[in-house]
Amino acid sequence: MSDITKVGFLNSAELKEAGRYPSEERLKKGPVAVIECCQNIPCNPCETACKFGAITVGDLITNLPVLDESKCVGCGVCLTKCPGLAIFVVDKSKDMATVSFPFEYLPLPEKGDIVKAVDRAGQYVCDAKVVRINNAKANDCTPIVTIEVPKEVSDDVRSMRRLNLTDEDTRAKLLERDDWTNVPDDLIVCRCEEVTVGDIKKAIAEGAKTVEGIKKRTRAGMGLCQGRTCSKLVSRILGSELGIKPNEIEPDRVRMPIKPVAFGVYKE
Ligand code: SF4
Ligand code: SF4
Repeated sequence: MSDITKVGFLNSAELKEAGRYPSEERLKKGPVAVIECCQNIPCNPCETACKFGAITVGDLITNLPVLDESKCVGCGVCLTKCPGLAIFVVDKSKDMATVSFPFEYLPLPEKGDIVKAVDRAGQYVCDAKVVRINNAKANDCTPIVTIEVPKEVSDDVRSMRRLNLTDEDTRAKLLERDDWTNVPDDLIVCRCEEVTVGDIKKAIAEGAKTVEGIKKRTRAGMGLCQGRTCSKLVSRILGSELGIKPNEIEPDRVRMPIKPVAFGVYKE
């Protein structure tokens, strides 16, 4: 098994081995949800979103959701309600499979476009035709894009490459960037708390010298992801502004508990 703490996701073989993937028999019958949520976080909107009762989280809100594949009709409503964007719909009932996924980047593709399908790691898998875009008001700004791909890659394709993406824009390049002087101030670094490059530079100008110091001044890293997305970027900006190497910067502190636990444990 790959180290999920490093890659951030389970691959299709691991999901299947863990019994967290719809059966081939069900996938061949038509569209069905694939729930790839694998962290015991306190979250259950998927359960309440499904009016067919196909998803169960249960009384303990940190349980992983369980799909009853016989009840799922592949409507896709749960995809738009999952804050982790961890649910997909796969359909292997025809010659070509379709994969539906939440896609919150602009511009959106158009029906008929040929796009670059990518896997869970964002790596290119194949070219794919866009067959549907659902951007209904009820989706609340989480459009669902459906693409057509060969069946043999439909368990691995999970998104598409952003349109108009240049090499300069890739996250990997941004993470490698040492000089942040010419990066636009309005670029968001901490997505959970909407903290921008400008906010972070201002905090540094006001005296913050550590990632923790920036966190306290701006809330960068205090959101749902707890800094998993932004703390490395904050280190880079700090290094650039103060003229020190990112690896010499003290990382932010991790506070206990590092995963949600029931209140009852504090009685012990
Ligand atoms: S795709 Fe529709 S039917 Fe299936 S689990 Fe999600 S909301 Fe329920
Ligand atoms: S809504 Fe998404 S993140 Fe939350 S429990 Fe359901 S699948 Fe997991």
